[in-house]
Amino acid sequence: MNFSRISIEEILKLEREKRVSPKEVWNFFARRREELEPGVNAFITKVKYLNEGNGIPVGVKDNIIIKGFPTTCGSKILENYIAPYSATAWKRLKEAGFSLSGKTNLDEFAMGSSTEYSAFGPTRNPWDIERVPGGSSGGSAAAVASGMVKFALGSDTGGSVRQPASFCGVVGFKPTYGRISRYGLVAFASSLDQIGIIANSVRDVGYVFSIISGDDPRDSTTSSLPVPSYGEIFKHIEKPFTFIYPEGEFLKGASKEVKEKFSSFVKLLISMGGKGKPVDLSFMTHAIEAYYIVANAEASSNLARYDGVRYGLKAEANKLKDMYFRTRTKGFGEEVKRRILLGTFVLSSGYYDDYYGKGISYREFLRDKMNEIFKEGEFLTLPTTPDVAFKIGERQNPISMYLEDRFTIFANLSGLPAISIPFSLSKKGLPIGFQILSKWYNEDRLLSFSEMLEKKIDFENKLIKEA
Ligand code: GLN
Repeated sequence: MNFSRISIEEILKLEREKRVSPKEVWNFFARRREELEPGVNAFITKVKYLNEGNGIPVGVKDNIIIKGFPTTCGSKILENYIAPYSATAWKRLKEAGFSLSGKTNLDEFAMGSSTEYSAFGPTRNPWDIERVPGGSSGGSAAAVASGMVKFALGSDTGGSVRQPASFCGVVGFKPTYGRISRYGLVAFASSLDQIGIIANSVRDVGYVFSIISGDDPRDSTTSSLPVPSYGEIFKHIEKPFTFIYPEGEFLKGASKEVKEKFSSFVKLLISMGGKGKPVDLSFMTHAIEAYYIVANAEASSNLARYDGVRYGLKAEANKLKDMYFRTRTKGFGEEVKRRILLGTFVLSSGYYDDYYGKGISYREFLRDKMNEIFKEGEFLTLPTTPDVAFKIGERQNPISMYLEDRFTIFANLSGLPAISIPFSLSKKGLPIGFQILSKWYNEDRLLSFSEMLEKKIDFENKLIKEA
């Protein structure tokens, strides 16, 4: 049986009826992992079958800690670090019976959009191994897309779950900020970081969401709002439903192909009984600047703890200051150093108001604006990425890498829930995904709506027919 093609719910039902065993389920995915992993490099650490739980294998991004396992964050500085406790999200999955397949590759400390900045080599896109899987949760997305795991956890600070999901033709979901505990997620930019879910279907995303989200006394930023159970999430979406889409200039950074496909997406929504309204989203164009100020400022402070004393790598030196210096210059990669420098700069006393202060006030402005925008319609639709997956080594200039996130980061700045679902293939045969966002904590309707679209788009069967 092909366990990649059926839902988590169905697999569990087969197990309950004793028609398949957890070991058979595990073996199915393990065989694929053995066959495909050498070409894809989705994992930093792989796990053997532990003969416990339901055997459904999960990939966990290697910046989410699991007791007794290495957590490298894709960095040399944490190469030999073993986690002393487990992240809440993983703990809840384990209690629900899921099995760990391994820790997945990422851009160092989740900084990047291609998984090329990992100290453990780049992950490759299973659709075309010359191309990147996106990032920073590229290992998680590639592991799901190649059928090595049933689903995976990632982290999304500026788009790192949705962008790789789009590049790899799978579903990527970042809930409202505060929905999933960050306890045990290694901090990059704490006010933006959220654990997200990558799976083959919106149903499976809903399944995992209902398990891992909700209040956690160990993370004071989690919301105490009740989380719908799996059975309660998926509802009928009545017609006409209302949605908004960007008009004019906003999409100018996207490729011609993405723009064309996006207008077919809007037409599809209208044909399905949607009342669509074009809105001016030009106020969002500064989100990218604000993000790289706020995220780097927080990162420079969060990464100060890797000093050779408390965690991981320690370089030898006679003087304390030299030890700090050597540890950090040896342990961190180039991109991480760049961000620490930028972040320290925007927080420095002479420039604080000019940069950090402005970034923060833009964020306030964005939240207010989004409140207004959602008066025009319940769902906001956007491309996920400006173009399809690019080639490994193609984005040498950091700014061109940063611009990859132009459609994803404002969901993080405003804390909104957002999902990317696969829509179509490009002429080169590469996946293109689109995003849907809705108001804070409206995840059940967002997932229901996405599932309705997913059925209509029928991405997977379209591929099978075309193959
Ligand atoms: N690509 C973005 C960055 O480099 C987002 C990363 C993320 O979401 N973790 O910061």
